[in-house]
Amino acid sequence: MPTVFTKIINGEIPSYKIAENENYYAFLDINPLMEGHTLVVPKQETDYIFDLDPDSLAGLTLFAQQVAGKIRKATGCNRVAVMVLGLEVPHAHIHLIPMNRESDIDFHKHKPKITPDRFEAIAEKIRQA
Ligand code: AMP
Repeated sequence: MPTVFTKIINGEIPSYKIAENENYYAFLDINPLMEGHTLVVPKQETDYIFDLDPDSLAGLTLFAQQVAGKIRKATGCNRVAVMVLGLEVPHAHIHLIPMNRESDIDFHKHKPKITPDRFEAIAEKIRQA
């Protein structure tokens, strides 16, 4: 069974795409902690991030660095937090979350409700940054 992220990469499930290259894909998290919360995934389906071969892991990190730069520019955030959880979706992914203060990064807090139009506007702003 392909993961939900593989279905997104293959275009079987829609996503608010931020960036893509041959090996990696970035898109907005559908249940964001902050506006601009993005997931970066390898196209190769691997559950645990540290099971990726070293070159793939290095490439994923460099791709995430590029995307984080765009997120920071687009949102004006202080920093972009980097998190790896992977408890929900068994496909390696890095969370990139714009933050201004530590309390922004709380997975139990009330999450902002974002309309499809707003998601698209945020994605476009990050893509253009
Ligand atoms: P975790 O595996 O604990 O790192 O969490 C998986 C993340 O994937 C959560 O933040 C979800 O909101 C996000 N997510 C799950 N399905 C989708 C989807 N179809 N589009 C965008 N994000 C998703």
